[in-house]
Amino acid sequence: MSELKYCQGPRCHTYDTKDRKRGPKDNKRNETRRRSSFYYLDGNACSMQCMYDWFNVYGSRALDHFGRITQPKVLTQDNAWRVHYDWRSREDGGYRHYVYNYLTDERIPLTEDQYNNDNAIVDDQGRLTTREFYTPTI
Ligand SMILES: [Zn+2]
Repeated sequence: MSELKYCQGPRCHTYDTKDRKRGPKDNKRNETRRRSSFYYLDGNACSMQCMYDWFNVYGSRALDHFGRITQPKVLTQDNAWRVHYDWRSREDGGYRHYVYNYLTDERIPLTEDQYNNDNAIVDDQGRLTTREFYTPTI
């Protein structure tokens, strides 16, 4: 069983729901939610409200700590690659997979296995990492 953790929303305990209530009748209190997993804030907040509460309190400090963007990021022909597929685009009903360049409209066909191995084709900066995947037949 996975370990329980608390929602990191700084106001989580202030939202009045049954599952937050603890204690006997004469000493009722609401507590921060505790779960084995959360969906929001990368697994650290129980709700969208708690996620926004966290960001409103800590967001600017987090940006200052990790570094703000001080110059524009730029999409060029070199980092404009994305993996794509066209739904049921083949005559047999299959999908046509390819890498696509948003700036040049260039398409390079991929097999489905290559498509599913997208980290090896387009890196997280949008660069085409290798053209060994090029398959001239489609
Ligand atoms: Zn919460």
